[in-house]
Amino acid sequence: MIHSLPLLPYLLDSLAPYISRETLEYHYGKHHQTYVDNLNKLIPGTEYENMNLEEIIWKSSGGIFNNAAQIWNHTFYFESLTPVFDILHLGDFLNAINEKWGTIENFQVEFNKAALANFGSGWTWLVRKSDGSLDIISTSNALTPITTENTPLLTCDVWEHAYYIDYRNARAKYLENFWHVVNWAKIEERFSSK
Ligand code: MN
Repeated sequence: MIHSLPLLPYLLDSLAPYISRETLEYHYGKHHQTYVDNLNKLIPGTEYENMNLEEIIWKSSGGIFNNAAQIWNHTFYFESLTPVFDILHLGDFLNAINEKWGTIENFQVEFNKAALANFGSGWTWLVRKSDGSLDIISTSNALTPITTENTPLLTCDVWEHAYYIDYRNARAKYLENFWHVVNWAKIEERFSSK
């Protein structure tokens, strides 16, 4: 099957000033697109040719895994963002955050600490563990929690290509502004659907 680039659920300039149009033109329009193009070049004639994206991620390794996982991770990241500023709503998700970290602000501090310490290229995630509790984990390069027992709820891309145009080397500033565009309704929906 041919894999395609999912449509962004918002306009390219709508996350500015926190994430600029130029960043999305490169990050979505070039980086995300390139992973799609690479995967479509790599799989013809292999056992992965007719698998869906998740199956490829579960079963492959090397270049095929890296490109497939990066397609999935980027789609999940872009769908975690919204131009419509939102706050957390009262309910089970907020209760789970408070149970683990005390307050939403403290969760954000801990998430940003983990994302700042995530050395090199990778992703930092809020996940729901198999026992139902929440946790923050970091992965390197293309690695993704969907190959583990953890269910991802939110991710922040800390590859430099995610922030270098807007923030240069200042990953901490990118992380601080990331929270202005987090789609809490989407995170709550992911939490509730498991
Ligand atoms: Mn990226």
